Amino acid sequence: MDFNGKKVLVVGLGLSGCSSAKLLAEKGALVKVSESEKSSELSERADELIGHEVQVELGGHTEEFCLEADLVVTSPGVDIAALKSSGIIKKGVPVIGELELGYLFCSLPIIAVTGTNGKSTTTELIGKIFSSSGRDVVVCGNIGNPLTGEVGKINGKDLLVVEVSSFQLETIEKFRPHVAVLLNVAEDHYERHGTFSKYKEEKFRIFSNQLEEDWAVVHESFRGDPMLSGVSSRILYFGKETDAVVTELESPIKGSHNLENIACASVVSGIYDIPPEVVRETVLSFKALAHRFELVASFKGIEFIDDSKATNVDATCRALESVEKKVVLIAGGKDKGGDYSPAGPLVADKVKSIVVIGEARERIEKALSSFTSVIRALDLPQAVKLAYSEAEEGEAVLLSPMCSSFDMFLSYKERGEVYQKAVQDLIEEEKVLPA
Ligand code: ADP
Repeated sequence: MDFNGKKVLVVGLGLSGCSSAKLLAEKGALVKVSESEKSSELSERADELIGHEVQVELGGHTEEFCLEADLVVTSPGVDIAALKSSGIIKKGVPVIGELELGYLFCSLPIIAVTGTNGKSTTTELIGKIFSSSGRDVVVCGNIGNPLTGEVGKINGKDLLVVEVSSFQLETIEKFRPHVAVLLNVAEDHYERHGTFSKYKEEKFRIFSNQLEEDWAVVHESFRGDPMLSGVSSRILYFGKETDAVVTELESPIKGSHNLENIACASVVSGIYDIPPEVVRETVLSFKALAHRFELVASFKGIEFIDDSKATNVDATCRALESVEKKVVLIAGGKDKGGDYSPAGPLVADKVKSIVVIGEARERIEKALSSFTSVIRALDLPQAVKLAYSEAEEGEAVLLSPMCSSFDMFLSYKERGEVYQKAVQDLIEEEKVLPA
């Protein structure tokens, strides 16, 4: 696609909006960026873009600024339906996402990883295995460095490993990974996709442009799923009990869900003939990513675990399955409209009490109070104190929120950091108290 002289509107000035705008400007497009929010960080980004001759509006989308675009490029967080209905995106103007834009400039084979949970862990692990096998890979996408920011630097590299979210798949057209991975689909993102089947459809779009010479790597629970009948590529299944690398392994990363991520990475490695020894060695030295079921501290026989990245019920259930002890659970945050009650049986079995925080407090309490006792806290540091007073030696305090963080924090990362600091502060305070 020739972007020279094209009027392109980028909606959203997050990381991916910013790198889309830079790439477009470099390709000669006349670029405008419209962002609904305002903050000092956004102003800094805007200043940087002005140096690239990009016009920016912050604090709202105005019609006169957004008028006359030949093409709209959206960031994953942007709700396109709302922009169309408010008239900001005009009828008939093509809309693509940041992932698609990056893909248009990408000549390397792509391994793309999607799923409700486990994307970052699996993407990172595949990247590490491929690097250990001597390949020069770029790991990017939803994991924190957008594809549009990498395409200018891929000359001479071997391949890309790209984490892809359902929001990004909503706005692809030609995006065609050589290997497309679907880890799982669990209930999430009702606020955006409306129904589970719509969400699942978005996930399956990862296969939509694949050809016979490509590969689909799919969790074995999808065997026989009618949605796979439309897939043109060769399908390989993975599961924690079917992969030799996994069955022979003493995994260093906790949780049976991580065995699935490992099995998946192992199957992908097999496509590229990477020897099983390389896979095994890399897995053995792989560390769990921060805020994903991360052990923060042990104090007076109580383990404090940070699973801030668990932003849906399924991820929290996996965390509960992975702890062998009784747990005081800290949950809550921004509600995404899903149902919390499927966690009920596991909560009844494993959870001594739940300390709830954030916007979703009441909905969680309503869904789970028949399974365990529920305590309300005003903020995360208070929740940590309350959870500590509930927990006894031999038990664990687990932050695994089932919700996104945006009601009280900038990101899951900030939420995890606040939790870890609150845990350290509490330990310091307790140490100076007389016994
Ligand atoms: P994502 O990028 O999809 O959010 P992460 O690897 O960052 O995935 O993990 C997010 C959360 O999901 C963490 O709480 C983690 O412990 C949990 N998790 C990781 N892998 C899986 C899996 N295969 N199935 C279910 N939950 C998982």
